[in-house]
Formats: sequence, structure tokens, C-alpha cells
Amino acid sequence: MLSKEIVELSKQHSVIRDIFEFGMKRAKIVGVENVFDFSIGNPSVPAPAKVDEEAIRMLQEEDPVAIHGYTSNAGVLEVRDAIAQSLNRRFQTHYTSANIFMTIGAAAALGICFRTLIDNPEDEVITFAPYFPEYQVYAQGAGGKLTVIPAETSSFQIDFNKLEAAVNEHTKAVLINSPNNPSGVVYSKETIQKLADLLERKQKEIGHSIYIITDEPYREIVYRGFEVPYVPKYYKNTLVTYSFSKSLSLPGERVGYIAVQSEAEDFEDLLPCFIASARLLSYVSVPALYQKVIGKCVDMTADLSIYQKNKDIFYQGLVDMGYECVEPGGAFYLFPKAPEADAGAFCERAKKYDLLIVPGDSFGCPGYVRVSYCVPTQRIEKALPLFKQLIEEYK
Ligand code: PLP
Repeated sequence: MLSKEIVELSKQHSVIRDIFEFGMKRAKIVGVENVFDFSIGNPSVPAPAKVDEEAIRMLQEEDPVAIHGYTSNAGVLEVRDAIAQSLNRRFQTHYTSANIFMTIGAAAALGICFRTLIDNPEDEVITFAPYFPEYQVYAQGAGGKLTVIPAETSSFQIDFNKLEAAVNEHTKAVLINSPNNPSGVVYSKETIQKLADLLERKQKEIGHSIYIITDEPYREIVYRGFEVPYVPKYYKNTLVTYSFSKSLSLPGERVGYIAVQSEAEDFEDLLPCFIASARLLSYVSVPALYQKVIGKCVDMTADLSIYQKNKDIFYQGLVDMGYECVEPGGAFYLFPKAPEADAGAFCERAKKYDLLIVPGDSFGCPGYVRVSYCVPTQRIEKALPLFKQLIEEYK
């Protein structure tokens, strides 16, 4: 007899996966070059050469037992230290290895934060639509709930009135994601300051800590004219969940971390609790080889310049055709309004042109669609006339 909860979850099929499967079928019929898959957020640029060089060097030169061995639960000490020093150089923080906890990507970092904070089914993490759909699963796994504040669709920025009304005694954290998947929107310094001020006040009123969880896999993908503020500088009870999946183009190697500053209220207990939460996720430590490789590449990114180019061409192209879209400040997604109320119907219509895009319903924001542009630029140039034909159908 299987777990009812898990059987239920297994039935909630992934819309993105369905679209991906459709694309594979169509590619067999019309040729892969004629299918325009803008559904998946997989980086399209290779990792820096140094990543492979270090991996090869380590495999050839270092102790083969250590390189494939278990690491300590919190991660390899020198790697945590290298990350701490890199952050100190960039953001004038005062981290040491004690402030960094290595995780299996941002996904596990988030799962661990949820489990560390949530106590009972009434406990909640508040987030803002549109949001990464897996947040629901992390909340479910931790036995709590995700409370979603509806999108402020004119800007996709935080609606502070709605947040003010939502925070209550069950609120354990507010989860933000900037640059955002799926809207690409970046929160300004003023926004982060306002969020910090609101939560400082609420913590006092309610009488317990409310954390900001800042989910930052896209921190390094930020466009001209935009800046991503470093949230711990504004609010001491911040848990940064970071990933090397997008910055170094290493999504399959599964390395990320949680950073928390020593001034956080529960600092002494947090690290042991992260270890306990990782055990509940049934994993012991992050794969050793790629932790160590990343430790040697902490100040690098893949060549992310293609995303700026793709954003410029795609965003301007769609807006010129009449699509309504908030300009992204980072990440590699556009989130235009569907020209009909039912975004699912619009995505079906797009399939006629072999344009594969995802309805915003999956991200808690009906009426919008996510267009992922981590693809070679020529794919966008070839797809733009098809987007034009598509919107012409509505005129
Ligand atoms: N958070 C957001 C907003 C994401 O878009 C993703 C992946 O696409 C993740 C977290 C998980 O990333 P990781 O590969 O580091 O687990």
C-alpha cells in the first residue's frame, strides 16, 4: 500500500515536462530546427574551461580516496571558507566557513530552510506570485504551507499592503526570488529596505523571528541598469539560498549553499538544524568532487553575456509586436501577458507554430506565459516572425 500523499503528488503532472515531451515528438516530425522550445530553464552556455580543468586535475593528481569520499555534513571546510571569502570581497560581509552550509543546489537549500523553520501544519512561508512552482512541494515536504500573495501584474514588484495584511503569528519566513523566475524582475535597494523595515516591525509585534529566505540562483544574471542588493546587509535574519546551477552552468552537478550571518537570531542553532534537516531529506553531504572544483572557481561565472543579448532582442521584439511585458532585470525569462484570458489556450495556439511556452498558471499567475530564453540567439531571431503571426491572430 503506497502513501496516499505521495500518490497524490505523483498525479500532479508537470506542465513544463508535458510541453518538453510534445517538443520531442514534434522534432521527430518537423525536424529539431523547426521546434522552438522556450519552456525549460537549462543554461545554454558551457561552464568555464577552468571547471573542467580543475575536475580533470583533481581526478589525476589528488588522493583518489579523498576526492570520492564523504565530506563533513556542512561541506568541505576549505570550500566553505573560499565561498565566505568571495562573498566578503563582493559584499563587505564578515563571513567565515561557519556561515556557509553546502547543499544539493538551491532546491535542497530551500527544502532545508523550510524544514528548519516550520513546526506545525499552521506554520507558513509567505511568497509572491509569480513564483517557482517547486516552492509548494518544499512547503508540503516540511509539513507547513506556502501562502501566496497574488501578483501585482503592472510591475511584478512586492505589494506591501497585501504583505502587511498577510503576516501573522504563523508566519515563519517571507520567501523572495530576485532576479525572479518567471518574471525576470529584480527588487531594488529601496524595496529590500522597505521589506526589512516591515519585517523588523512585525517581528516585534508578533514576538518571534520572521526570516527572509532569499532564493538567488539567478543573482549573477543581471542586466545593464539593474543591481541585485545583498539582502543580509539590510536584515539580519536572512537565509540566502544560492546555487551554482546557473552562474557556472552546472545544474547537473547539484551544488549550492545556505549563507547566514552570525548576527541572525538563532545562529548558534541554525547549522546543527540544517544538518538535521538534510538528514530528513535523506542525504548526507554534497558530492565531494564538484564541491572542491567549485571551491577553486568561486569568483568565476560562465559567459553570461548571451542572456543580455537574448533579453534585448526578444523583449524589444515582442513589445514592438504588441505583446505586453514587464522588462526583465535579470534571470533568463520573459513573462508577457497572454493576448487572451486563458493562457493555456494561448500556449496551445502557439504550438501550431511550434512555439513552446508555459502558461503562468503553473507559477500562480494566470493570464501570463513564461518564455525561457536560455537558447542560442539565432533560435530567437528565427522564432520572432512566428510570434508575430501568433499575435496577428488576435488583431
Ligand atoms: N529556485 C528557482 C527560482 C529556480 O528557478 C530553480 C531552478 O531552476 C531553483 C530554485 C533550483 O535550483 P537548483 O538547480 O540549484 O536546485
